[in-house]
Amino acid sequence: MIGDEGALVLFSGGQDSATCLAWALDRFAHVETLGFDYGQRHVVELACRKAVREGLARIDAGWVPRLGPDHTLELAALGQLSETALTRDAAISLGDGGLPNTFVPGRNLLFLTFAAALAMRRDLRHLVGGMCETDYSGYPDCRDDTIKALQVTLNLGMDRRFVLHTPLMWRDKAQTWALAESLGGTGLVDLLVRETHSCYLGVRETLHSWGYGCGTCPACELRRRGWEAYRAS
Ligand code: ZN
Repeated sequence: MIGDEGALVLFSGGQDSATCLAWALDRFAHVETLGFDYGQRHVVELACRKAVREGLARIDAGWVPRLGPDHTLELAALGQLSETALTRDAAISLGDGGLPNTFVPGRNLLFLTFAAALAMRRDLRHLVGGMCETDYSGYPDCRDDTIKALQVTLNLGMDRRFVLHTPLMWRDKAQTWALAESLGGTGLVDLLVRETHSCYLGVRETLHSWGYGCGTCPACELRRRGWEAYRAS
């Protein structure tokens, strides 16, 4: 599967994007990472990125020469457009249509478009993101059809042949843990538990079996349930 083509992974420092980074390192000769800073309340997730990248280099020596530079783009405009719990001190709640108020409208469309612009500059053909519609969160920009349509749009608009990969699209959270184990064994699973972050409230004081977090927000609930299902399988 390894060719000489390069990939750019949308890498937030969360469990899903870290798993995608390992997936890309397993497949592509050269892998770069991209994080977005748009004034998230939880800068902790961005801080996790460095620890995960360094940890991955210890998991598999073959990944070391493949892991290229890390990029960060500031998207302050996205924070300005958001009235949500990610960027303001508001409580997590479900709003109209069942979308959590953490939703930033069209966020993944913008992320992938900026990623494609960077990938063009860096001569990287493959874009990898952790979008998933299996543990359905209600985010329409995570749907498979949305990603496929965006791939066509980007290729037309930039006159390229980008390939958008979403390895988690049809995996639930338990299967995502199992994927990590298949890629990097229990060492990778342990790295993801300790160094990735999901909690909406940014809590990193308490280490649970499934990782750090408040234990009660929707993101912690999803992560804990997925971990328990993975451990029971
Ligand atoms: Zn939490």
